[in-house]
Amino acid sequence: MVFIKSEKEIEGIRKACRISAGALKAAGEAVKPGISTAEIDKIAHDYVIAHGAVPNFLNYNDFPASACISVNEEVIHGIPSKDKILKEGDIVSIDMGAAIDGFHGDNAATFPVGKISDEAMRLIETTRESFYEGMKYVRDGSRLGDVGYHIQKYCEERGYGVVREFTGHGCGKALHEDPSIPNYGRPGKGMRLMKGMTLAIEPMITEGKPDIDILDDCWTIVTLDGKLAAHYEHTILVTEDGYEILTVCDE
Ligand code: MG
Repeated sequence: MVFIKSEKEIEGIRKACRISAGALKAAGEAVKPGISTAEIDKIAHDYVIAHGAVPNFLNYNDFPASACISVNEEVIHGIPSKDKILKEGDIVSIDMGAAIDGFHGDNAATFPVGKISDEAMRLIETTRESFYEGMKYVRDGSRLGDVGYHIQKYCEERGYGVVREFTGHGCGKALHEDPSIPNYGRPGKGMRLMKGMTLAIEPMITEGKPDIDILDDCWTIVTLDGKLAAHYEHTILVTEDGYEILTVCDE
């Protein structure tokens, strides 16, 4: 079921999203060679708690942490560990959210660890840019197929792969709501967007082929070819003539 949110609900979602964004920023600023992914998870977790919210990834389908932290060839759903130490040249994707008063936010980004290769930086930047490329097609009355098509086109034209098995989603009254928002699509097709929808749009882009595998921990999604992957996500509000990014941090 796709919810159209009321003004009052949007205010609540905005608050949850601001905390989600502040926590992601704090976690991202902690990224450096020598830190463990468990330490980064704790920073995200503590930020959410300190702001009176709850980490909505924690225990979701039994996920054991507050942030998904995925390194290099890991695409999404990496489990933080005190034994996973970031090193110079790695890239790390942090995906996390917060809930407060029954409202939810969700956001993600990929960060460089120290100095990284030009190729890795280009992947991170293209993934972020593809999100904004897709967003050009978000407004009241536009179609989801156009959003996905333009994300896909932007990435594939630059030689990257678009993960098919995981998608963006509605987000606001729950962490995951309808509709699914693929990062691929056909122009002019798909559901019509309506103002008042709140959506998490999240390109998951690979340096090589888009095929994925899942590790024995039953969570971590990796590229099948072992090449790098990047992720970028905001929760957004569909408006009359465009969108508003809700996962922004004003601190
Ligand atoms: Mg999401």
